[in-house]
Amino acid sequence: ALDAATLKAFEHAAAGHDGVLSSAAGDLLIKPCTQAEVDFYQSTLTQHPDFAEMMPTFLGTLTLGEPAQLTNPTALHEPAEILRQQDASGTGQPGKKLKTDTAIVLENLEAAFRHANVLDLKLGARLYADGTEADKAARLDQVAAETTSGSLNFRIAGMKVWNGVEYDKYDKLYGRKFRAGNVLEGFATFFAGLSTALEAHEAQLLLETILAEVAKVRHMLQKYESRMYSASVLVVYEGDGEALRALMSGGGEAKVKTPMADERAPTEAEVKESVDQEEEEEEEDGGPPVAFKVRVIDFAHAEWTPGEGPDENVLKGLNSIEDQLDDLIARFD
Ligand code: ADP
Ligand code: MN
Repeated sequence: ALDAATLKAFEHAAAGHDGVLSSAAGDLLIKPCTQAEVDFYQSTLTQHPDFAEMMPTFLGTLTLGEPAQLTNPTALHEPAEILRQQDASGTGQPGKKLKTDTAIVLENLEAAFRHANVLDLKLGARLYADGTEADKAARLDQVAAETTSGSLNFRIAGMKVWNGVEYDKYDKLYGRKFRAGNVLEGFATFFAGLSTALEAHEAQLLLETILAEVAKVRHMLQKYESRMYSASVLVVYEGDGEALRALMSGGGEAKVKTPMADERAPTEAEVKESVDQEEEEEEEDGGPPVAFKVRVIDFAHAEWTPGEGPDENVLKGLNSIEDQLDDLIARFD
């Protein structure tokens, strides 16, 4: 259950605003957001359910101070009462808080990992929607012009990397220093853990699988007409070397079920055994452990826009990210 008294500040954000909360078990994230972001999550579930799979699982909305409106009542058993008391713990992050009473309840993408390495790649050269005040638009254009946002249609907005003892944090200024010619160094820094934990061919396999997920997002957005300003691709991979090695020797992202050698149906005992095994593999709350997750996040300025054609601003950014991953893969040859 989502109990207000047990919510805590989410301290692991790679970028963005303050004021994000997580459930006590750490499986859920409560993010203050605009109505436009709520609308985007809801419309995606009905209009483009396959794209919803590339987003964090959306569990519902709540108004801070009121009972939660949950779309999936099986995930959370009791109505939640969220109190206006989350300010106390929101220290230590540079972001500003959003002035909003609305929040979304999302899957915490870090929950499936022992130590989540997180890379936030902000998409687009143009970073604001129509109707944005001129001075804000000019400011965002200026940042884009000075960073890889302008040249590659993405920039590193932030990252955190487990160093074996604690997280190394890279703030928004880190990613702004790169140019098109050297942003690969940012990817190399983020993925440095692969070289120590894995064989070169395993590192390549992991990076190729991550690249394929980015390509999957691109293919969907080539088909579905949308406008997304300042959304991000969030790349998460297991920062615990030992855990990562074990996951890669077990086959990468979702565990592949080995089919039975013969065609007969499994006996009751066999079914029970495989269910037990799955339950054992399941972490406390974050679902089964995986080597990585790639998701699109941050839809404050996102809309499905049938009739307007594909979102070249975002597609170019996704393409550039795929190019960087390709170049990084080549380094392991
Ligand atoms: P903002 O509008 O503040 O930029 P974002 O949605 O981009 O909000 O979130 C900010 C940061 O919070 C991201 O960089 C990421 O590190 C973290 N974050 C956001 N959503 C999730 C999620 N579902 N699971 C885990 N971390 C998340
Ligand atoms: Mn963001």
